[in-house]
Amino acid sequence: MTLLPNAFDNTGMPPSDKNDGAGKRKVRVPFRRNRSKPARRKDWKDLARGGDEHKVDDAAASESVVTKGSLSRQRTVIVRDDGVATRGVVQCGIIIAVRGLFAEVDVQGRIISCTVRRVLRTRSIDGRNSVIVGDRVHITFEEKPGLPPEGVIEAIDPRHGELRRKSGRRIHTMAANVDQAIIVSSAWEPMPKPELIDRYVIACLAGGIAPVVCMNKMDLDMGGGADTVLERYAGLNYRIVRTSTVSGNGIADLRDLLRDKISVIAGQSGVGKSSLLNAVQPGLGLIVGAVGEQNEKGRHTTTTAIMIRLAFGGYVVDTPGIRSFDISMIPRNEFEAYFEEFVPFVEKCKYPSCTHTHEDHCAVKEAVESGAIHPQRYESYVHVFSDPGMM
Ligand code: GDP
Ligand code: ZN
Repeated sequence: MTLLPNAFDNTGMPPSDKNDGAGKRKVRVPFRRNRSKPARRKDWKDLARGGDEHKVDDAAASESVVTKGSLSRQRTVIVRDDGVATRGVVQCGIIIAVRGLFAEVDVQGRIISCTVRRVLRTRSIDGRNSVIVGDRVHITFEEKPGLPPEGVIEAIDPRHGELRRKSGRRIHTMAANVDQAIIVSSAWEPMPKPELIDRYVIACLAGGIAPVVCMNKMDLDMGGGADTVLERYAGLNYRIVRTSTVSGNGIADLRDLLRDKISVIAGQSGVGKSSLLNAVQPGLGLIVGAVGEQNEKGRHTTTTAIMIRLAFGGYVVDTPGIRSFDISMIPRNEFEAYFEEFVPFVEKCKYPSCTHTHEDHCAVKEAVESGAIHPQRYESYVHVFSDPGMM
């Protein structure tokens, strides 16, 4: 799983159409040039913040507005023209599943199967799905007695917090508008791996998703080892929750964190993700498993993921592959911004391009020596910097 900044976003300007008369159309869609990146982006200090401020920027960045210069050339593709007519009242909803050409939209608890207006579908051709789970959409729908309602997605709101997966050389967007990732580790079996937590945190921040550090199996934490790991995050901006599905401690806190948000649950196998879901809402973990199997059988789908509605409010995004992240796509010189306790020191380094690894007069290294930065967090940074692919 890769969570990438929204700099990769956006399709281009409205495509120009040519109808070949056979229900198919040739559509001219723009290619986009890769943007060149400055050594340290101007807003780099904001990267570490995640959360709401981050989202505002991302929302603006993900609107489909492109300057003329960023369009290099066009290519022709064929799209089908289903020509669904507009009708009915516009309602707002959220996509909880995409199956083929249909999207299931949750409109205040009612699930309406919708097609996507063709003009919106053409946006998908340039490497991005026109609609994915988590998208907030505006739909119109018609109801005929005795038939399930049929809707049309008329508009899609700008996205924030995209969850992406790299498969081969392609990047798939799995879910949109994800607010937070619950990064689960366990106090025992498997033992907590602080560096792995740090990598998940980086992936979240890079994708505009707020990280929540969850330490599960606290009932097994006899020697206080889990608390030692969590100390690394003391004073940082991340929410921390300690849970046990055995004693029930912390489950109410986790429920509060999940309420009214779109969350993804991440973490190594065996840490208790399914158990935690079952604890916050009995039956939920079982549902998750069942859907995973179904998707594997029905190979036809490029289904991104599904979202499970929580009875107490909010959604959990799930698909088996979504539970591990990969940060190898994130430029190495951005890592310093994702270690938020480094940020005040970075500008005090002697060399403006200091990587805080081998350089002399490095303010970050000095801060480690003076105790302002946790030595293990620094170690973790050096490992990530030298080998972002390792997980
Ligand atoms: P997942 O692979 O992350 O979904 O992990 P599971 O939910 O399948 O849990 C893995 C194992 O850990 C199971 O045997 C659970 O019963 C156990 N487990 C989960 N949560 C806890 C906990 O809080 N305390 C203890 N002692 N065991 C737990
Ligand atoms: Zn430095």
